[in-house]
Amino acid sequence: MKVLVLGAGQLARMMALAGAPLNLRISAYDVNTDAIVHPLTQHQLGTGLAGAIADADVITAEFEHIPLPVLEQCQQSGKFLPGSKAIQAGGDRRLEKALLERCNVASASYRVINNEADFKQAIASLGLPLVFKSALAGYDGKGQWRLKDPAQAQAVWQQMADFLAADSKQAIVAEQFIGFNRELSLVGARAASGEVKVYPLTENHHVNGVLSVSLARPVSKPLQQQAEQMFTAIANGLNYVGVLAIEFFDVSGNLLVNEIAPRVHNSGHWTQQGADVCQFENQLRAVTGLPLGNTELLRPTLMINILGEDTVPEAILSMPGLHLHWYGKDKRPGRKMGHINLSANSPAELKARFAKLIDLLPSAAFPELEQMLSQLN
Ligand code: ATP
Ligand code: MG
Ligand code: MG
Repeated sequence: MKVLVLGAGQLARMMALAGAPLNLRISAYDVNTDAIVHPLTQHQLGTGLAGAIADADVITAEFEHIPLPVLEQCQQSGKFLPGSKAIQAGGDRRLEKALLERCNVASASYRVINNEADFKQAIASLGLPLVFKSALAGYDGKGQWRLKDPAQAQAVWQQMADFLAADSKQAIVAEQFIGFNRELSLVGARAASGEVKVYPLTENHHVNGVLSVSLARPVSKPLQQQAEQMFTAIANGLNYVGVLAIEFFDVSGNLLVNEIAPRVHNSGHWTQQGADVCQFENQLRAVTGLPLGNTELLRPTLMINILGEDTVPEAILSMPGLHLHWYGKDKRPGRKMGHINLSANSPAELKARFAKLIDLLPSAAFPELEQMLSQLN
């Protein structure tokens, strides 16, 4: 079967790697250049969406910020999974918040802001502190403002007013600031039959708004059940087919949804080594109609993002349980260039291996790992 992926980044690349043993042939559509590329080599195979759609058996996506005409063209083909509505819900925070309300899933209270009156009403009704997020195109914490001190309100509004004036399609979503204990995510798959299989909850650590480390280890059953129930409500609400990721705030054991990603997710990269069937393979299985694979945790695993670096000390490759995944991208400051997966047979062994790995990695390129290690119990 031939699968066309909208987006030609590392997620399409890892789908291609996972699909090869199943004889699934993956090509990638670069929405910025209109090129069809081989997701491993970036070798150009052709141009133009219409031909690529005609050639594909199934179409899916590796990101949510896709121009509407592209989504509509794919939707009209009848081959697009999870489909235009799900991708849009992940790409527009107004639709996302409305979806969460419709599915009765808890998340931070919010208001949509289009002008200064909305801004003032948001402060009056939600109180401070607030987090403001651009409705469209936000990622890695970009396009966000915080307001804690009422004295700063005018200055923050001015920045947001300039932002809104620059793009008539944009809006801002104001959210109550959540004092969470930690951030978790749940990655899972839903098949066309409605069957749902989820991986264990993953703990996520961000540095400067960007995911740095994800950790998968045995998790408390009630928390996992809570997350799974919310996942199922959202996936069913979208009649979703494919892999879906949900980011949560854990507030003393109660989960609030932060946001969803209608695709494979950075916090699910650990599944390449920590689970039987990884998120990339399950995504392909779901959209091509193959049975979903086992999502249980096989062994505790953590993932470390490699940001803005195109080398790591070769010595790390000697470590047991370690796998290195490069994305074949040109080096740019802060860019996601690759990741390291580290597995072990027990949480204690994983902690010990993490400590050894930290000693081998340059701390300037991998900040705050020591701190994360010290928080592991
Ligand atoms: P991603 O790269 O995960 O798509 P994003 O740009 O879409 O990121 P969010 O995940 O919405 O942004 O927010 C980035 C981070 O900001 C969160 O991981 C969390 O640490 C913090 N944050 C977001 N919303 C809130 C909130 N309501 N209260 C407290 N912190 C928040
Ligand atoms: Mg996001
Ligand atoms: Mg996020």
